[in-house]
Amino acid sequence: MKDTQQYEGKWEKRWHPLRDEWIVYAAHRNTRPWSFEKKPARKNTAPEYDENCYLCPGNLRVHGDRNPDYKDIFIFDNDHPVVGLHSPTISPQQREFGGGLYRKEKAHGIARVVCYDPRHNVTLSEVSTAQVAKVFLAWKLQMIEFSKMEGIRYTLIFENKGEVVGVSNPHPHCQIYSTDFIFTLIQKEIEQAAWYRKEYNKNIFEQIIVNELEFEKRIIAENSTSIAFIPFFARYAYEVMVMPKRRHATLITMSETELYDLAQAFQEVQRRYDVAFDMSFPYVMTIHQAPIDGKEYPDYHLYISILPPYRQPGLIKYLAGPEIGGGNFMADTIPEEKAQELRSVDLSDFQEYQSPSKE
Ligand SMILES: [Zn+2]
Repeated sequence: MKDTQQYEGKWEKRWHPLRDEWIVYAAHRNTRPWSFEKKPARKNTAPEYDENCYLCPGNLRVHGDRNPDYKDIFIFDNDHPVVGLHSPTISPQQREFGGGLYRKEKAHGIARVVCYDPRHNVTLSEVSTAQVAKVFLAWKLQMIEFSKMEGIRYTLIFENKGEVVGVSNPHPHCQIYSTDFIFTLIQKEIEQAAWYRKEYNKNIFEQIIVNELEFEKRIIAENSTSIAFIPFFARYAYEVMVMPKRRHATLITMSETELYDLAQAFQEVQRRYDVAFDMSFPYVMTIHQAPIDGKEYPDYHLYISILPPYRQPGLIKYLAGPEIGGGNFMADTIPEEKAQELRSVDLSDFQEYQSPSKE
């Protein structure tokens, strides 16, 4: 029998407490960790304004609406909404059939687009931290608006960034889906939080923060009220959770200082990604918040989930048999190694984007 002790800490299963599922880590199969060379963050070469971009100020959108000549953040209802207030109604006899198994309902809700900045070529990594904080404040205001809206139970704020996650338009923006249902993962997290409360009489999210602070080596960014880390149970190689340290069920109750801190930690993670990979790093970002259905969620603690598809430069993590077919993640990396890579990035000469001077 081969001696496999050399693979200790690289080849094991870890349990994901928020999803109640196992992840298999097989980092020993990876040839060796790649090392970063110190490079300046990628230079931005795209123009600030693109006449073919449907998000740039003053441009026409698909159904003929013209964007205003906006100077800051711009929010509008999606022209191709996935959920809408005017989606087709479903007759009562169509709602349930097939022995109670086949059900339909109206695709009710509101879909919005949030442009972070009028400039076509900037990212949240490159703008000022104050600008990122403004975006966070805009999200909070959206949450307040949706929480007062009849028939809305959940609001999902998310950003798909980069061509590898299917977004061809680089204009910095995210989307908001407000729905009459609660997203499955959030529902699962609420159940897990309730289970942990019952079993250990503690808050599951707070315990994760305590654990990560204690271990310390997976922390990517931290300030007085926020923390960002690759969790012990990360599924994606560079997956990061960004959290306010104090519990907030949604952005609605966060103070301006806390929002700024959360924005700062979030941005620092972006910068570490961008410098490490020498590119505008793609990801799927979602803000996990409690439902806004009028009920109390005393054990829910909001966090930003960043899921980048890359597992190393030039290599995408493709979901295949185990993930798609079986529902469990197989990772070729181990969170501690990836955290070490991001922690070692030197941000001292990171430069914010400066508009070319208009003379
Ligand atoms: Zn644009």
